[in-house]
Amino acid sequence: MNKEKFTLIGAGLTGPLLATYLAQQGYSVEIFERRPDMRKESISAGRSINLALSARGNHALKEVGLYDKIKPNTIPMKGRMIHDLNGNTHLQPYGQKENEVIFSVSRAQLNMDLMTLAEETGKVTIRFNHQLLSADLEQNKAIVVGSDFDGKTMELVSNGGAYLDAAIVIADPSTCAELPECAVGEIWASGGHIAEGYWQNEQASQETFQGFTECGKGPFLRTGDLGCLIDGNLYITGRMKDVIIIRGGNHYPQDIEHTVQHLF
Ligand SMILES: Cc1cc2nc3c(=O)[nH]c(=O)nc-3n(C[C@H](O)[C@H](O)[C@H](O)COP(=O)(O)OP(=O)(O)OC[C@H]3O[C@@H](n4cnc5c(N)ncnc54)[C@H](O)[C@@H]3O)c2cc1C
Repeated sequence: MNKEKFTLIGAGLTGPLLATYLAQQGYSVEIFERRPDMRKESISAGRSINLALSARGNHALKEVGLYDKIKPNTIPMKGRMIHDLNGNTHLQPYGQKENEVIFSVSRAQLNMDLMTLAEETGKVTIRFNHQLLSADLEQNKAIVVGSDFDGKTMELVSNGGAYLDAAIVIADPSTCAELPECAVGEIWASGGHIAEGYWQNEQASQETFQGFTECGKGPFLRTGDLGCLIDGNLYITGRMKDVIIIRGGNHYPQDIEHTVQHLF
């Protein structure tokens, strides 16, 4: 994890609160939230309309300096009213003493105030309309889809998964290590549908059809295609031989084509 920057998923109640705590400690924080900004668009507040603030909730709000703003808009609640099947009502007090209450607050307003508070630290950025698809905490990798500009997302179509006795792994072409979900690498395939090798070319057959992963899994056909697996579905990103690497950056033919098309 980068010591200077945290990435959080979700700008609900805890995301902006944690971001504010972190910002107060000097960290920069980026939050990805799949919903639009509820301060600009009319959307549901989420799990419930109102929320009961307990001593623990009040304590957190005091710590981040939001309590005095929230308090005037809360409604005291003495207890929960139970309606039984015969139409009788029974009050279950929240406190042990007559004057003990908890406070009800609008969930949406609280959420909006927490987001604004986090942003006002100057160290927190909330990226709305950005959804986390998957994360690999061991490798510090997250796949988030979304758009910074118009709230539209691009849908990627997969090539499907492996069926019957077929198997696909994504491997690092130089180390032969099997790569985790979402990482782009060389597509290796195995199964009854794969040929045994090239006609009378032992060496090329060995190189292409006898791929074994670092852990000894195989043999696989090293397809030379690049792609990744997400939830068992294969996404093809390009062809190894077509990629030009300049100063560590991958340039695919379609990138170069796109650049040239927009030059004139
Ligand atoms: C019906 C109900 C009533 C409740 N009443 C109370 C109460 O009175 N008092 C109380 O203290 N607690 C109450 N709770 C519990 C309280 O709602 C939760 O403890 C609190 O909301 C948890 O905060 P959170 O930030 O973890 O989740 P949330 O507030 O749910 O926020 C999660 C956020 O993450 C976003 N998100 C989710 N998946 C992704 C993704 N893949 N990519 C990007 N963003 C994503 C969501 O859009 C959401 O904005 C209640 C819960 C329920 C269900």
